[in-house]
Amino acid sequence: MRVHHLNCGSMLAVEPVGAHGLAPLPVVCHCLLIETETSGLVLVETGFGLADTASPAARLGEDFLGWARPRLDPAETALRQVTRLGHRPEDVRHIFLTHLHRDHTGGLPDFPDALVHVHEDELAAVSGTPHPHWAHGPRWSPYATDGDERWHGFTGVRPLPGLPADILAVPLAGHTPGHTALAVRGDAGWLLHAGDAYYFHGELRQDAPAAPPLLDTLQEQTEADRDLRLTGVTRLGALAADPASGVRVVSAHDPWEFRALAQEDPADPGA
Ligand SMILES: [Zn+2]
Repeated sequence: MRVHHLNCGSMLAVEPVGAHGLAPLPVVCHCLLIETETSGLVLVETGFGLADTASPAARLGEDFLGWARPRLDPAETALRQVTRLGHRPEDVRHIFLTHLHRDHTGGLPDFPDALVHVHEDELAAVSGTPHPHWAHGPRWSPYATDGDERWHGFTGVRPLPGLPADILAVPLAGHTPGHTALAVRGDAGWLLHAGDAYYFHGELRQDAPAAPPLLDTLQEQTEADRDLRLTGVTRLGALAADPASGVRVVSAHDPWEFRALAQEDPADPGA
């Protein structure tokens, strides 16, 4: 399966603390577009959508616009990038969301016919909470992660209805109660999209520069269960550090991770 890396929402620029040689970069919304043989296109995360770029205050909230300072360029939406890659929007038959925060759900209305895979705890947490991102009535496909299937030390892992066996939901709670990562075995091997389990790749390594302070503060303000999240980060760090695992770990907002992956595929519109 071919996996494209799309940035569907640049935000304010950040910079790690200390000597690191990393230039400041705008925070991204790192989405994946997976080309499957049997299930059409699978979009992992949706970033900001076209309507967000037209009516940002009504759809994202003034507070969010104030601190996140999203660029809201229509050309960055998943809708426009899918088209630029030569596909039709309706070719996106499945969407996977790690959780339901607004910087992940904005593109939902741009793909109204897609089946939206989301953890049942995430969906339960917003039931009865209207939001413009799901006012159109998405085709939710809630799932549980209470089985005993294992994958690289994670438990409760499961395939998703209608998707190939090489696409797996991987429980990674903490940022939110039902936060879930997505593993996909693409042409380049296994990739684990860890969503907002961490914001900066240095969190996975002991010897790394410290995270941009703003991202640290943001994680503290938004995470539901810090201890649980950090347990997940420790496991992700061990996985990423083990060359025998063959698994590459990425997150939703780290711009340096995104740039490295996007540049490996010059055909990607995010490169
Ligand atoms: Zn996020």
